[in-house]
Amino acid sequence: MSRTRALCAFSTAIPPPSPRVVISSLVHHSRHVSTTQNAKASAIGLGSTPEPTTTASILQSTFPSSTTHPPPPPSSTATSTIVPTPRPPTKSPLAKLPLSAIIRSALILSISSSPLLLKPCIWALSALASPKIALTDVDRNPILNWLVKTTIYKQFNAGENKDEVQRSIVETKALGCRGVLLGYAREVLVADSETSPHDETLARQEVDAWLKGTLQGVDMATAGDFVALKLTGMGTQAVHLLKNRLPPSEYMGAAITKACDAALAKSARLLVDAEEQAVQPGIEDWVMKYQKYCNSQSPGYATMYCTYQAYLKSTPATIAKHLAMAEKDGYTLGVKLVRGAYMKIESRNIIWDTKEETDACYDGVVEALLTRRYNFMLRPAPESQSRDQVPSVNMIIATHNRDSVLKAHQIRLRQAENNDPRVELAYAQLQGMADEISCELISGFSTSTEKTSFIEQPNVYKLLTWGSVQECMGFLYRRALENTEAVTRTKDSRSAMYAELWRRITRQA
Ligand SMILES: Cc1cc2nc3c(=O)[nH]c(=O)nc-3n(C[C@H](O)[C@H](O)[C@H](O)COP(=O)(O)OP(=O)(O)OC[C@H]3O[C@@H](n4cnc5c(N)ncnc54)[C@H](O)[C@@H]3O)c2cc1C
Repeated sequence: MSRTRALCAFSTAIPPPSPRVVISSLVHHSRHVSTTQNAKASAIGLGSTPEPTTTASILQSTFPSSTTHPPPPPSSTATSTIVPTPRPPTKSPLAKLPLSAIIRSALILSISSSPLLLKPCIWALSALASPKIALTDVDRNPILNWLVKTTIYKQFNAGENKDEVQRSIVETKALGCRGVLLGYAREVLVADSETSPHDETLARQEVDAWLKGTLQGVDMATAGDFVALKLTGMGTQAVHLLKNRLPPSEYMGAAITKACDAALAKSARLLVDAEEQAVQPGIEDWVMKYQKYCNSQSPGYATMYCTYQAYLKSTPATIAKHLAMAEKDGYTLGVKLVRGAYMKIESRNIIWDTKEETDACYDGVVEALLTRRYNFMLRPAPESQSRDQVPSVNMIIATHNRDSVLKAHQIRLRQAENNDPRVELAYAQLQGMADEISCELISGFSTSTEKTSFIEQPNVYKLLTWGSVQECMGFLYRRALENTEAVTRTKDSRSAMYAELWRRITRQA
């Protein structure tokens, strides 16, 4: 594994354009979901999708302030699937998107879904991500900065500062999303790739930079939102420790604890991205340690989540092991499930042989966790106390796969109809991507009857990445590369945008 890769976020599975070594310090944030335990409270605490007109009113109506400690996760009260009033019938799932967003998406998706047009764009983005001359440096060329900022940056990024980011959060929530996952795109450049992991001064500087970014994320988060702790973003020494499955240094441990305390004080939640296998087992060791610290302080709810990659054959066993650990220590496990972004650089033998097997793993784990019943895919760990029921768990289904989302939603509808208990659940997609899926979810999918959509309202989150235009260039470059592998899905999104445009032009209902 190259060092560059080890240091990068999930979104950096494809090597970045620059030969420089980067540490990507992503911070995510998302708001959370429903739980049946507090369904009644939620019904009282929150109405249907808020449609406030100001930042303050949206933030307040969505997240009632709570200063008690440990605070009840606001998602549990604020985002319950039980809502007191049904949504007005929506003509089209994308109807809520502003026209400017539809046009921008349609144009960008048209380019992304055309291999011919995408190639020069990738080349240009690569040049902008590692500028060699002032003309291609978005920090030094104001015209270029404006051009990028009003087009692709606006499509995929949330803003450069707190005001802009909070405006994006408001816009996202106004669409009906429960909240956002906020990712900080800043990349800490390590001048010398041969930097020693034993250089304590540098190690502390890197941890300080990581903590500053993380706390900025917490500051922008509202109660119930997620702020990611990107552990490799802590620098060269952290990567060294993670690779060798060693515990964090005392200095790093103190920084992580500070981030945990800040999130707990604000009722925000912490989300740790999954990375490649060279560091992932180490990441899981650290996450389990700090999940115990955080989640024990929020009984019944997960304050910290670990990310699991369904393309790994080992993932069901890893989740089962972590469930048993959480059960033994008496806290709720937080599970964010993705398919996995590092296929190109992982050993092929640790990944399911086919996409269909990855899909089966994803959907099987989702089913087991949502129903809290072990199944063919998720079996209890040998040390698990309960052999039948899955211990307490909260979940984020992070995917752009419509089938997986629909399957999960159908389980929830069944549960709602039968009045079965439902675990805390969120769905998450990236800003500017799979909007039609997010919007379909928000509108409850056409499969829902009026009754079920009334009682099971999916909690949808968008992952917003923020940072200056230059800081986000690497992220944008990687999004473009990702699109080369998902042309079919991009075409689906493009068709949905064109259909919506046509619906508006022809004034169909
Ligand atoms: C909100 C959000 C957060 C994310 N966070 C992370 C994270 O922390 N870590 C991370 O690694 N990724 C993360 N991802 C990316 C994710 O792992 C996927 O790469 C991406 O979402 C595409 O998968 P999909 O489920 O959306 O869609 P799909 O298009 O249905 O699935 C594509 C995925 O299937 C798998 N796959 C494709 N071909 C094969 C094959 N032949 N054999 C086996 N498997 C195959 C790969 O994982 C591929 O990425 C995140 C995605 C989202 C939306």
